[in-house]
Amino acid sequence: MALLQISEPGQSAAPHQHRIAAGIDLGTTNSLVASIRSGLAETLPDIEGHHLLPSIVHYAKDEPAIVGNAAKQFANTDPLNTIASVKRLMGRGLKDVKTTGTRLPYDFIENEGQGMPMIRTAAGDKSPVQVSADILNALKKRAEETLDGELSGVVITVPAYFDDAQRQATKDAATLAGLNVLRLLNEPTAAAVAYGLDKGAEGIYAIYDLGGGTFDISILRLHHGIFEVMATAGNSALGGDDIDRSIAQWIMQEANIADDAEHHHIRQLLDVARTAKETLTTQDIAPIQLEGHIKWQGELTHAQLNQLIDPLIHKTITPCRRAMHDAGLTVEHIKEIVMVGGATRMPRVREKVGDFFKRSPHTDIDPDKVVAIGAAIQADILAGNKPDDEMLLLDVIPLSLGLETMGGLSEKIIPRNTTIPVAKAQEFTTFKDGQTAMLLHIVQGERELVLDCRSLARFELRGIPKMVSGSARIRVTFQVDADGLLSVSATEETTGVHSEIIVKPSYGLQDGDIERMLKDSLEHAKYDIAARTLREQQVEADSVINALRAAIQADGHYLLKHQEFLKINAALNDLLKIKEGTDVKAIKKAIEHLDNLTQSYAERRMDSAIHRAVKGQHVDEL
Ligand code: ADP
Ligand code: MG
Repeated sequence: MALLQISEPGQSAAPHQHRIAAGIDLGTTNSLVASIRSGLAETLPDIEGHHLLPSIVHYAKDEPAIVGNAAKQFANTDPLNTIASVKRLMGRGLKDVKTTGTRLPYDFIENEGQGMPMIRTAAGDKSPVQVSADILNALKKRAEETLDGELSGVVITVPAYFDDAQRQATKDAATLAGLNVLRLLNEPTAAAVAYGLDKGAEGIYAIYDLGGGTFDISILRLHHGIFEVMATAGNSALGGDDIDRSIAQWIMQEANIADDAEHHHIRQLLDVARTAKETLTTQDIAPIQLEGHIKWQGELTHAQLNQLIDPLIHKTITPCRRAMHDAGLTVEHIKEIVMVGGATRMPRVREKVGDFFKRSPHTDIDPDKVVAIGAAIQADILAGNKPDDEMLLLDVIPLSLGLETMGGLSEKIIPRNTTIPVAKAQEFTTFKDGQTAMLLHIVQGERELVLDCRSLARFELRGIPKMVSGSARIRVTFQVDADGLLSVSATEETTGVHSEIIVKPSYGLQDGDIERMLKDSLEHAKYDIAARTLREQQVEADSVINALRAAIQADGHYLLKHQEFLKINAALNDLLKIKEGTDVKAIKKAIEHLDNLTQSYAERRMDSAIHRAVKGQHVDEL
């Protein structure tokens, strides 16, 4: 596969004009901002010295939004107005979010499955984009105060599996926060950049990212100084929070707390569990003390913790296997492993991941800062501060992009895991004589039938000149930019009639969906091929029927004898019936039968056409 280079946008700045750029890790649990200061990339703390900004926003009537630790205080007392994990809602429909089993206890406003849900708060209805914008705004303020100047541009990281809708929603949030987005960058790529892997030896790297509520594994390849994401996999409902839950459950058991304990008690328990977990990362034992309503004293040991978390860690290994399988690799191919996400601080996680990959992972850079640091390095280059630095970052699209063709089949234009940016074109033609418009239906997925893929957008190309079916030449171009956003254009080549669309689906796919769709496509491969053959046969039947009907209408009355017409008409009706069924061979036979019956009619038509053509012309003009 030819690799495409990403050109550097913007002009390089004059040496004295250092532009202030920043990298932002907009996380599900925590967000960070980082920048290059005196040549070093570092995350920026708030006045109290916290680098991590909890991705939580609290809304109160007629008050500006409160973000971060201050907002977290309200989680117990005012949960409906305290929005956490909003990243899960970005570019999603409510249905998408609910099917993943994510519990988001907000007051959602249903919008008939269209677009992102709004959240009812004391400060009015908020879309996930607005909530994210409030988080970004807090980081922007922090950066501009610390760096003492206006930000010229930012690089914001997104999970590698983020689809079009999710990327677009992230960009929209940045725009709303008054940020100039230089580039959206995949989180694993950012982590690799932070470790300077792009400057190191060629090879394949695995990025293991276990955050608060999500797990992602990405396989990157560095080749000829170019980064490429080979495969991604993960679990959108697995992270440090699950560890907290299982520790909390254990405490409940030990302390004899009933399962139906009140909401705020559970919250409190989860906080205690998290503290114990984080303590064990550096200590040998974690004392636990429940105060207030429920009183209990105990301790959590490494042995106990390991017993609780081993099944969870094990659940991250399955996606690791799948990603390597997708990339056609085994663990022996992996050169180095990079750990990302707060939960990878846990010694047990490092140990188990090391066991699986048979190598100890990189942990030198703080795993919850590493993504922001990589983003800052990239932002600095894109802002033009390092005009000589040739860093090329390449990402892939997670699912194939295609177009619906006759018979409800998906013709893949850009296959899954193609490196972006990319543009690919293919020619299509009309199906009917005199067809002047064409509906282009863009779909995403690996399956053969459009029905089994996800619909992204539809648009029309109008004004195609009337031509015989099959003679119009419509060139459809799919273009995915460096941020992973798709636009599609169609041009009729003889006339230059043109139409295009920027695909902004109202909401996109969960990575769980991607997994499911891939699994389906493998399981159904056989069925799909059969289905495809059937559809193709049906399409052929349709085109035979259409052509025959048009012919009969044009000249049947004088070129066909009545008996002959009746016979052909009966065969045509047979074909109409048979093609609705699923018997491919029967359809084929019916088409052949009709072909035979109409052969002499076709010859007469040809003669008659030649006859008409030569009428009134000299033979030597032919
Ligand atoms: P996200 O990328 O989802 O925003 P983070 O990378 O910030 O999340 O990871 C947050 C998770 O990391 C939380 O579950 C938190 O408890 C966990 N975590 C942070 N520090 C530690 C630690 N020292 N030991 C164990 N887990 C930790
Ligand atoms: Mg993260």
